[in-house]
Amino acid sequence: MIQTVRGTRDILPEDMALWHRIEDVAREAFRRYGFSEIRTPIFEKTELFSRGVGEASDIVNKEMYTFIDRGREDREGESLTLRPENTASVVRSYIQHKMFADKSPGEVTKLYYAGPMFRRERPQAGRYRQFYQIGAEVLGASDDPAIEAESIEMLDWFLKELKIANTRLMINSVGEPAMRVEYLEKLREALKPHLADLCEDCNQRYETNALRVFDCKNEKCRSIIADMPTINDYLDQASREHFEQFRAHLDARGVEYIVNPRMVRGLDYYTRTAFEILGSDGLGAQNTLVGGGRYDKLSETLGGPPAKGFGFAFGLDRMVLSLSESEAAALRLADSPDVYIVFMGSTARSKSFLIARDLRLAGLSVLVEFEERKMKKAMAQASRSRCRYALIIGDDEVASERYGLKNLSTGEQESLGIGEIIGRLKIQQ
Ligand code: ATP
Ligand code: MG
Repeated sequence: MIQTVRGTRDILPEDMALWHRIEDVAREAFRRYGFSEIRTPIFEKTELFSRGVGEASDIVNKEMYTFIDRGREDREGESLTLRPENTASVVRSYIQHKMFADKSPGEVTKLYYAGPMFRRERPQAGRYRQFYQIGAEVLGASDDPAIEAESIEMLDWFLKELKIANTRLMINSVGEPAMRVEYLEKLREALKPHLADLCEDCNQRYETNALRVFDCKNEKCRSIIADMPTINDYLDQASREHFEQFRAHLDARGVEYIVNPRMVRGLDYYTRTAFEILGSDGLGAQNTLVGGGRYDKLSETLGGPPAKGFGFAFGLDRMVLSLSESEAAALRLADSPDVYIVFMGSTARSKSFLIARDLRLAGLSVLVEFEERKMKKAMAQASRSRCRYALIIGDDEVASERYGLKNLSTGEQESLGIGEIIGRLKIQQ
């Protein structure tokens, strides 16, 4: 028996209502805030990610699905990678299609995406090798901190609309790369005496990008890192002011946040603002729902013009896990078909197909039996289908053109004509 690859999974029909709801609310949020959708390829040149996400990041270091494509007679195959995230691709597209042209100063391009991402991580609950993200990017000449606040306000609305409660917004500023040099020296100095106690990854991070140690999930490392100097004492004046304005914008919108000077994101490209939204404790260790930040150097890193950028991504898999039991139950219920048609006899069978067609033309969701069964069995099947109603058709019903409409939750049954049935079911839809 061939099964799914480790770290991947099937999203089954019974969960689809939850996925669709999250996607719908996200699209509605993006519509209200003026974002347009973009779809980029699932695989790109490896260089896009090694340059964009950064050679020193965990993602590029050990998590990418990279392969050499078949070459041609005259050419060697090139190195391609399944996208581990979508920001680098969106910025590549922004540059490739010159989306910055014909823009007035300060005008931004707002893009969003949704789709699968691939990282070769250790699979566990809420962490998969193929997972799904929805994210958004604001690109252009402006780095106004109101851009950050607006996106976070949108996320706030999104979480409230989905009734996802008990989330925490963490914010920080990681400053400008040039200004980070002095701080990184101090941090490395402070880390040095602890290297033997830090995990292998942190030793690696010490060499390549010491800031990344704050991202370590290892308990022992975390207790050491808790005493390390943080970047906020070393921020340059402009980053400091930017962060203050960003906070003022959040305050003005009544959005609550926690300043966490130890929060750095896992990608190399962030400058200044970084943030994450943590879900409720029920999610366990994998409780980061949303991650994002500013990346004012990414366009240039990818060979584009100077352009500012801010964006975020959330994990759909984890968002689905965050829906409350009652919300999930309500969504599943609303997702069930309207009516299940049960027939007795061959005349009724033919009639049931035509009635099913008419109900569907009227916009209703209909399941119809294909094989005749005993009434009791058929009704049990109707209940299992979670349809709200059963429509019962026998010879008498065909003759009188009045059919038995049974409410499957109350058990009440009425005899009605097709027009009345459509009217009744449409109101309840
Ligand atoms: P984490 O710290 O949990 O590894 P990250 O810093 O790698 O997250 P980002 O790259 O910023 O996360 O991605 C944004 C969001 O995408 C995460 O907050 C999470 O919800 C989701 N995500 C990231 N990796 C995975 C994964 N392997 N499986 C499921 N969801 C994921
Ligand atoms: Mg990660």
